[in-house]
Amino acid sequence: MKIDFTTATFKDFENIQGYDMMQRADIYYDFLDYMKSNGHNYRLRNNSACGSVINVSAEKATKDYISYVTSDYLGFTQHPKVKQAAIEGIEKYGTGTAATPLIGGYYLFHNDLEKTIASFFGRSQEEAVVFTTGYTANSATLQILLQKEDIAIVDMAVHASVYEGCILTNRKTFPHNNLEALETILKASEHQYRTKLVIIDGVYSQDGDVAPVKEIHDLVRKYNAYLMVDDVHGVGILGKTGRGTLEDPGLLDKVDIITGTFSKTFGNLGGYVITDKKLATFIRFQSRQQIFSATAPPSSTGIIKAIELIDEEPQWRTKLWDNINYFKKGLNDLGLETGTSCSAVIPVKIGDPHVTGDVGKLLIEKGIYTNPIIYPAVARKDARIRMSIMATHEKEHLDKTLNAFEDINNKLHIAKKY
Ligand code: PMP
Repeated sequence: MKIDFTTATFKDFENIQGYDMMQRADIYYDFLDYMKSNGHNYRLRNNSACGSVINVSAEKATKDYISYVTSDYLGFTQHPKVKQAAIEGIEKYGTGTAATPLIGGYYLFHNDLEKTIASFFGRSQEEAVVFTTGYTANSATLQILLQKEDIAIVDMAVHASVYEGCILTNRKTFPHNNLEALETILKASEHQYRTKLVIIDGVYSQDGDVAPVKEIHDLVRKYNAYLMVDDVHGVGILGKTGRGTLEDPGLLDKVDIITGTFSKTFGNLGGYVITDKKLATFIRFQSRQQIFSATAPPSSTGIIKAIELIDEEPQWRTKLWDNINYFKKGLNDLGLETGTSCSAVIPVKIGDPHVTGDVGKLLIEKGIYTNPIIYPAVARKDARIRMSIMATHEKEHLDKTLNAFEDINNKLHIAKKY
């Protein structure tokens, strides 16, 4: 079987009929070489701390780039109080837990972390379960809650971890944010499956748009289903007090399962699930990832401080929103298409994957580090440059980036193409 490298995407290498594992790895290795020889380097190396400016080894040079590739939305990975709290955790507990939570690896700081994240959502500790990553929080929760008698009804734009969580159950996808299509599936599933769980993101990771959570919640209740919301990109950013997408519509205590991460706004690593106390207990003691895998390390004490800072230092959220509004307006004034984004994730929609790759390369040449996103992360003709805006971006960073887009647009006419 021959793969045409000029049109291939990563998806084409997931499985190649008739090739064993070594042959598949071999052909993939050649593909990466081909991509590199065309100037696409998929793993640039950061030599300095995460933030709005990163020292990166790219394009045979090592230099400082204005960065939009990390989701350190409030800048908490570098906040002195967060760092100090993490250091204190390591000093008190050492560097690791050395056991899974169920057989001796559950420490006081896990208890404190669960208590803090639960109370952030106005809930009790019993209603929170902490996982190693946001990915695991989603996949593990779904794998233990849904079996072959059940159905997961998912917005097609949810994160890969949700898809992975659905491998043991039935799954139906509905077009992104399409309420009619969701209702059709809910109606057809109502008496056919035991548990019906609708899974959506609060904020979608590639478009930065927000789900119509109120309408979806109403539909879910109408058809006796349950609702799970992954709010990885909403918590800390949206809502009157930063509680995420569900805060302003008054749904924080109404949605059945909320999942999230500690690796974005909270500047660390880990994931969490917030749900009814009996469901949480079931997940805590039955999920294979809790039984057989270690969870958050001692430096997670930094997360506790980061959660507290959402209330203690709201100025970071204000600064982030100033940046988001300024930058999006600047892009739109250039005629660039940012779609339906209303969060810290801002795409510049280009459409053609090759042009998108070229824009990414030109931005790198101009000292700006972004993520060109192509199929399968988005539809084939919906490629874009994806950027995460952070509170640590200064106006001069945003202006330099807008100027770079203006130059590139003059050359490649990306505003007209989409
Ligand atoms: N859900 C969404 C919507 C995400 O964007 C991500 C991370 N990109 C995750 C879950 C997984 O989070 P983590 O990195 O903590 O595994």
